[in-house]
Amino acid sequence: MEIINRRKRMMSVARRLRREEHRTIGLVPTMGALHEGHLSLIHEARALCDVVVVSVFVNPTQFGPTEDFAAYPRDLTRDSALLAEYNVDYVFAPAAEEMYPPGAATFVTVEGLSNELEGASRPGHFRGVTTVVAILLNVVRPHFAFFGQKDAQQAIIIKQMVRDLAFEAEIVVLPIVREQSGLALSSRNTYLDPQQRQAAAVINGALLRARAAYDDGEHNATRLIDMVREQIGQEPLARIDYVSINDATTLEKLDKIDDQPALLSIAVFIGKTRLIDNVVLGESKKNVVSANA
Ligand code: AMP
Repeated sequence: MEIINRRKRMMSVARRLRREEHRTIGLVPTMGALHEGHLSLIHEARALCDVVVVSVFVNPTQFGPTEDFAAYPRDLTRDSALLAEYNVDYVFAPAAEEMYPPGAATFVTVEGLSNELEGASRPGHFRGVTTVVAILLNVVRPHFAFFGQKDAQQAIIIKQMVRDLAFEAEIVVLPIVREQSGLALSSRNTYLDPQQRQAAAVINGALLRARAAYDDGEHNATRLIDMVREQIGQEPLARIDYVSINDATTLEKLDKIDDQPALLSIAVFIGKTRLIDNVVLGESKKNVVSANA
C-alpha cells in the first residue's frame, strides 16, 4: 500500500494503471476516522475493481463557519493501518493546499438539489462536496466510485454531477451500516458520551416505526412525519433539525407516497452533535446491513 500526498503523483499512478496496465480503478472518498460503514464500501470496491484507492481528506469547503471542521476526528496512522489490513492499494491523503492550490477559484454546484434538506440546513455544504468529488474524480480517474446511502442526498447529487459533467466513473451506492442499537455508524458518533449514544438510538427507532406504519398502509407523508417527530420528542436529549419525505430519486417533496420509493430522512441534534439518518419507504428490506452481522 502506498500513501500518496500529491495530486501529481496520484495522477501519474492512475494514468499508468489505466493506460498501461488496463486495470479497473475503484475510488472510495472518505474524510477518515474510518469505521465499518467506510469499510463496507472498501470491501465492495475490492470485490469489483483491480485497484482500490481510498482518499482521506477532511474537506474544508464543505464545512460551514460554525461547524466542526477543526474538531473533526483525524487519525491517519490508525486509518492507514486499517486500510492496509483491507488490502487497499493506494491511500490518497492530500493537504488542503494540495487539493486547493493557492488562487483556486473554481467550484462545482449542482443547482436545485443542493438547496434541499441538508443543503437548507448547511448552506454551501454540497458546493464543497461536489467540488472536492470533481477534483478527486479528475485526479484518480476511477472506473467506479463508492458512496454510502447514509448520505442519501449526497449520493443523488453526485450522480447528477457525473451525468451533467460527463465524468466517466460509475457511481455505486451501498446500504447504511448500523450499530446493534440501530444507530447509523458515523465518524461524528465519537462526539457522543455513553448516555447520548444510547439516546441516539431513538433516531433509527423512529424511522423504523414510520416504515412499519408505511408497510401497514399509512402513505400520508404528514402523518408519517408526525409519527417520527412524536417519537423523537420523547427523548429529552434529542432535538430535531428536520424530518422530510421526498422522492428517493428526484428529492421532490411528497405529500402522499404512491408507488415510487420515498426517502424518509432526518437530521437530529443529540447535544451539540448533529446526526443524519434515513430509510427508504417502498423498497425491499434486504438492503439492511449490521456492523455486528
Ligand atoms: P465520510 O467519511 O463521513 O465523508 O463518509 C465517506 C463515505 O462513507 C460516504 O460515501 C458516506 O456516505 C459513507 N458512509 C458513512 N457512514 C456510513 C455508514 N454508516 N454506512 C455506509 N456508508 C457510510
